[in-house]
Amino acid sequence: MPPLERAGELFIISAPSGVGKSTLIAELLPVCPRLRFSVSSTTRAPRPGEIDAKDYHFLSVEDFVQGINSGRFLEWARVHGHFYGTDRHIVEGWLDKGQDVLLDIDVQGTKLVRCAHPGARTIFVLPPSMEVLEKRLRGRATEGPEQLAIRIAAASREILEAPWYDYLVVNDNLAEAVEDLKAIVRACRLDRTVSAPALKSLFMSLIDPALTPRS
Ligand code: ADP
Ligand code: 5GP
Repeated sequence: MPPLERAGELFIISAPSGVGKSTLIAELLPVCPRLRFSVSSTTRAPRPGEIDAKDYHFLSVEDFVQGINSGRFLEWARVHGHFYGTDRHIVEGWLDKGQDVLLDIDVQGTKLVRCAHPGARTIFVLPPSMEVLEKRLRGRATEGPEQLAIRIAAASREILEAPWYDYLVVNDNLAEAVEDLKAIVRACRLDRTVSAPALKSLFMSLIDPALTPRS
């Protein structure tokens, strides 16, 4: 990367299953065109309507384990009884090119990514109440009774991790929650530590115009 170009920003969204992460992300991406979404790999079966390589890379357990052993994943975790992981090569390639990247990963994965990328901005999405969360999860009607029980039990454990995140967004009114996410992305891009390269370039031109990098 040329010295004055910035690396991309890494955004992580976590929430208990059913809060509305996928819905929010689907609304956010078209209004944040410079944000790339990292499609995870998983060993869970596709839900009706889910498309391979768009919603997830749907892998067999054997292929996933091979991915773990070959260092394919930036992070991986067992969530609700299935494996999920983030492709290191894709995410780090985008970041190196200065592109901002969004991950939808669970609380365990977030801790691992933070070790490798301490500057990652973490966002936890909360339900307005536990009753609403359960209603949304049941209303989605994509999980059988066993998965439903696993996900509802996991929700309270996951919410206890929310205070460790940088930003909290309540997904009550969908449009407002999307606006909140948009505001977070925008504010992070304006952060002094992120926009410093632009400032540095201006400073250099003030000190000695000959030092101004040519584009
Ligand atoms: P997650 O990706 O977090 O598991 P989904 O995006 O699949 O959750 O959303 C779960 C269900 O809740 C879906 O049926 C979705 O349409 C619904 N939903 C999401 N956000 C809202 C909202 N703000 N108000 C009402 N229903 C919502
Ligand atoms: P779902 O099966 O409902 O799509 O996702 C279940 C959970 O897995 C969600 O909490 C989601 O954020 C998480 N998840 C999705 N992809 C990844 C991933 O690549 N890594 C980790 N650690 N969690 C993931």
